[in-house]
Amino acid sequence: MPDPKNPLKHLYSTGRWQKFRRAYLAQHPLCVMCEQMGKVEAATVVDHKIPHRGDVVRFWVGPFQSLCAECHSGPKQAEEHGKVRGCDVNGWPLAEGGCK
Ligand SMILES: [Zn+2]
Repeated sequence: MPDPKNPLKHLYSTGRWQKFRRAYLAQHPLCVMCEQMGKVEAATVVDHKIPHRGDVVRFWVGPFQSLCAECHSGPKQAEEHGKVRGCDVNGWPLAEGGCK
């Protein structure tokens, strides 16, 4: 059953996305949200600036922004948890108690 909140989730595990993600992060290595707050934080997530909401074209075309795992999961949430959580191989921040 596809995830209604993220119907294109399967695309994140494709080689095409992995390649794109690596190239994007190489070009935009810093988290843009942290940068706005004057912090320098390495980005680990390529975020869809405009939620793709199941739109395949938007998924591949963007626009994108580089985010760290904390900003991607929401600054408020990050504040509550108070620490950086890891990301899986697809660049998704892990939920509670992920890798260190
Ligand atoms: Zn950040």
